[in-house]
This record gives sequence, structure tokens and C-alpha cells, in this order.
Amino acid sequence: MKNQLKRFIDPGDVLAVRIDCKHCHVVISLPVSKDIDVNKLLVCPYCTRPWLRLPDGITGEVQVKQCIREISVLSEMLASGRFNGFALQLEITTDGE
Ligand SMILES: [Zn+2]
Repeated sequence: MKNQLKRFIDPGDVLAVRIDCKHCHVVISLPVSKDIDVNKLLVCPYCTRPWLRLPDGITGEVQVKQCIREISVLSEMLASGRFNGFALQLEITTDGE
């Protein structure tokens, strides 16, 4: 029998979303506790390669902003103690160990 470990984190454990430019490797950390102006992330602020707005017009700023906001809202909801009938955790990969 093969044992398989699973790893979980609480939504409140997420402090920030990290963006790492695959071209120039500049790293930006977006705290989930703050409102983010994702329009500043349409391109890499260092090398200006496209990040959230692709040359063909496809954009991803709404999805990134919603993801950060929902993590923050969910964390606050769970921390309020009003929803104490369950525990909610996010399962994360164990790859790379
Ligand atoms: Zn870059």
C-alpha cells in the first residue's frame, strides 16, 4: 500500500499573491489585505512584457483582482467565528518535495 500525504492551508494563511515575471524574474507580492490596482500589472513594471493584457487584447486583470478579493473576504468570514460549524481548507500540491 502506498501512503500519500496531503497538505492543506487555511485561507487566512494566504498573505499575498506573488507574481514572478518569466522574462526578467522581477517579483511582485500583492497583499490580499489591500485593494490592488491591477491595471498597474497589465505589463511587467520592469521589462514591460505583457502580464495581464496580451497583445491580442485578452485580459486577466479582473480574474486576478477577484481571486485576491475573494481570498480576503473568505478569510475574514471564517475569522469572524460566525461560521464555526465547519473548517475550510485549501489542498495544495505536494509536488517538488
Ligand atoms: Zn519582467
